[in-house]
Amino acid sequence: MALDYSRPSRSLLRRCAKCHVITHSRLGTARLKNRISNHRAHDRIGSTWLEMKITDVEVTILSFAPEKPIADALNLNLAWGDTIVQLHTDEGLTGIGEACAPFASPLLVKAIVEKSFRQYLVGEEPFHRERIWEKMYLSSLRYGRKGVAISAISGVDIAIWDLIGKATNMPIYKLLGGYRDEVRAYASAGFYQESKGIQDLAEEMAQFPKRGFTAVKIKIGRDPAEDVERVRAVREAIGDKVDLIVDANAVWNPRTAIKFANRIEKHNILWFEEPVSADDLEGLATVTSKIDIPTSTGEQEYTRYGFRDLITKRAVDIVQPDVVTAGGISEAYKIAALASAHHLLCVPHTFTSPISLAANLHLIASIPNGFIVEFDTTEMTPLRDKLLRVPFQIDHRGFVKVPDGPGLGIELDEKTVATYREDLSIEQWKEAGRSLRIPTRAMWQAPPADGEIAGIP
Ligand SMILES: [Mg+2]
Repeated sequence: MALDYSRPSRSLLRRCAKCHVITHSRLGTARLKNRISNHRAHDRIGSTWLEMKITDVEVTILSFAPEKPIADALNLNLAWGDTIVQLHTDEGLTGIGEACAPFASPLLVKAIVEKSFRQYLVGEEPFHRERIWEKMYLSSLRYGRKGVAISAISGVDIAIWDLIGKATNMPIYKLLGGYRDEVRAYASAGFYQESKGIQDLAEEMAQFPKRGFTAVKIKIGRDPAEDVERVRAVREAIGDKVDLIVDANAVWNPRTAIKFANRIEKHNILWFEEPVSADDLEGLATVTSKIDIPTSTGEQEYTRYGFRDLITKRAVDIVQPDVVTAGGISEAYKIAALASAHHLLCVPHTFTSPISLAANLHLIASIPNGFIVEFDTTEMTPLRDKLLRVPFQIDHRGFVKVPDGPGLGIELDEKTVATYREDLSIEQWKEAGRSLRIPTRAMWQAPPADGEIAGIP
């Protein structure tokens, strides 16, 4: 359909069948202009879009302090947020990505992307995504390879895929292969919290099957004896037909993890997540070989090189790369393929951010060895519910639809971005970040071993 760009109007925008932008009567001039540019680009498919070039990069940090902080076995989360990477182009399209770098790292992501990667991005064509990825990876080798530099690469790579999808008017999962259009979700909750007892935990988890979820995950990893009780109470609360996952957040040693797994095996556990340290590959392999519950790990691992060792040593049953951490959609797709070649499942980690959920959903929807997605159901985060103009929903069967709009298929709510934006300079943020994100391992450290189950670090 030919569009008359000289006379933009709400009705004109609505008539464009090539993209899923829904116009809004309160659009400001700049946003309206941007959307018209997007339509212009869609109308040019087959001509100039292939030569589209990146003109600018921008990292926006959003943060908030939850009223009732939640804790896993290692950290009490006093602050949370989203680190949004945006790539602007000469065609008027903007690609959105996210780099997950908890605690003080959003500041570092901003510095790496805006100060270091910028020179490798501006002037590049998004369709040369492998070349761009390699330039970012090679340029950051001496301070990267794992951790925040790879998170920064992840944010850029996701934004590039969003651009490619928008330029071709295709959702990312269909560009990658399109294995499924909806994904089963599990409710990720059951954290430790001040004055929250086992009965409170059981009541919390019992609500999720009523909302349609067919699987739930709870935290363990503090006191093994108490955690056995947590698992028992939750299994009783959710019934036998709902899958139960436990997550120790990598704090136990192999012997503790094995003894604990033996104690809870009768409760029919779907998988045991991060039983031991991410730096104890041999220990993880030992746990995996000695228990009858499938193991999983990967939210603290990076790139195909890190996952190669996990996979080829058969250290784990399920790999969990997070697209916003492990190297982006390009890298996570390779990790999933490597896992597939070894007949392992790939169930990406994702938490809190709806941008992360969208990116990980597109990956899971495109691979045959992914079967379920993590869905944050904690009460703490406003960004999960307000950052997108159309938030993700679970249907009555516990499934979530994969967005079928171009690219990631999401649209940010600018009001929410403005509300939670940290508009500080990098220098100022350094100080603010220090007080906002405090790792509090000591506060939540497990009590001394009880003699029978020993060994919490
Ligand atoms: Mg986890």
